[in-house]
Amino acid sequence: MRYLIIGAGPAGVNAAETLRGLDGEASIRILGDEPEPPYSRMAIPYLLMNRIEEQGTYLREQDDHFAALDVEVVRARVARVAPDEHRVELDDGDTLAYDRLLVASGSSPAKPPLPGIDGDNVATCWTLADARKIQAQMPTGSRVALIGAGFIGSIILEALAMRGVQLAVIEQGERMVPRMMGPNAAELLRRWCESKGVTVYTGVGVNAVEPNGVVLEDGTHVGADLVITATGVRPNVAFLEGSGVKVEQGVLIDRHFRTSVEDVYAAGDVAQGLDFSTGGYSVHAIQPTAADHGHLAATNMSGREAAYEGSMNMNVLDTLGLLSCSFGTWQGVEGGEHAELFAPDDYRYLSLQFEGDRLIGANAVGLSQHVGILRGLIQRRTPLGVWKQRLQQDPTRLMEAYLATTQVI
Ligand SMILES: Cc1cc2nc3c(=O)[nH]c(=O)nc-3n(C[C@H](O)[C@H](O)[C@H](O)COP(=O)(O)OP(=O)(O)OC[C@H]3O[C@@H](n4cnc5c(N)ncnc54)[C@H](O)[C@@H]3O)c2cc1C
Repeated sequence: MRYLIIGAGPAGVNAAETLRGLDGEASIRILGDEPEPPYSRMAIPYLLMNRIEEQGTYLREQDDHFAALDVEVVRARVARVAPDEHRVELDDGDTLAYDRLLVASGSSPAKPPLPGIDGDNVATCWTLADARKIQAQMPTGSRVALIGAGFIGSIILEALAMRGVQLAVIEQGERMVPRMMGPNAAELLRRWCESKGVTVYTGVGVNAVEPNGVVLEDGTHVGADLVITATGVRPNVAFLEGSGVKVEQGVLIDRHFRTSVEDVYAAGDVAQGLDFSTGGYSVHAIQPTAADHGHLAATNMSGREAAYEGSMNMNVLDTLGLLSCSFGTWQGVEGGEHAELFAPDDYRYLSLQFEGDRLIGANAVGLSQHVGILRGLIQRRTPLGVWKQRLQQDPTRLMEAYLATTQVI
């Protein structure tokens, strides 16, 4: 059996290792178009904060890890997939045959279409190459404008602020992390950032990038030596054009990670897979989902049946010491009930969303002790019984609720 994997990120690497574990004889090849050994993008902020060296971002520590598993990691860029012939074409003209193919090509930052966006003073923060550019162009004390305060933007924000730069963040949505948290929670995050010396603009977009900063829609000029954009991502699917593989927000996969084309599977950020909370199909671009996807896609590719339970929408942020998180359907559902604790002076916030007597979503700020419990109750769809009402009266009784409803004697 010849397994070919496009993409050397967490999804691709987990898939290759799982395949090797299930099949000692198969040929397993990972194709990745970045020059470095497989690495983790989520480690980039730690690199920027000087907490780790580049090598610390590598997904596997040992140089010979993949060779020892007899997994070939090849630097190559896939240009086209031809499923009828069971082969892929590389951009250097080479072709490679496969029996089963995994598309784990991730996503790339979407550049906002602004005048000046292609200038040398503009960077994204997505790859190790980006991280090197940022390190080189952002000495301590320099002025940085970060466009976008979504989940990835807010992760980058922490790393930039920790480098001792003068940071301004511009988010065109009404609040920071608009797709992760509601207004009260986001307001705490904003106040916290401002208290740490970060300037935050919300509800205003950027009109243009100039050599010495950015111009906002309301005419404000924000001075900056470097502009970093974090304005969303797009799945890397150009090479699938003409292949018949169906793509919506990502490559559509079923519960067994199969795409619309036989013997082609997909996993990770590029895939639009089953959503645990809604039962629909979504792109959940986070590393735990990519790793789970990779493992389960490989299990299915090997011929074993492993139906996916779905991934949970889940984001955890540590912003200059303030922890915040969102899980599941944090916005709530029609007809559902909710409970809220808002203690702005202490930077504490908790909102719980219920459907029937189950917890289906949550937002929390400044309450790190609840992160695991929130996830556990939602993921296990635990019936809360009388504890739902108690939580509505006092949402901080989560630990008691968890112990009372999940302990099996
Ligand atoms: C700065 C930053 C911080 C993050 N922090 C977190 C975090 O705290 N928590 C979290 O859960 N997630 C975080 N993420 C998101 C996380 O990194 C992704 O969800 C994860 O990398 C997805 O893994 P993947 O394997 O699907 O894709 P990727 O890691 O993107 O890997 C895909 C690989 O495929 C390659 N590729 C693409 N097209 C081709 C082609 N045609 N031919 C060959 N190779 C190709 C790409 O270059 C890439 O190397 C962060 C991301 C960034 C950028």
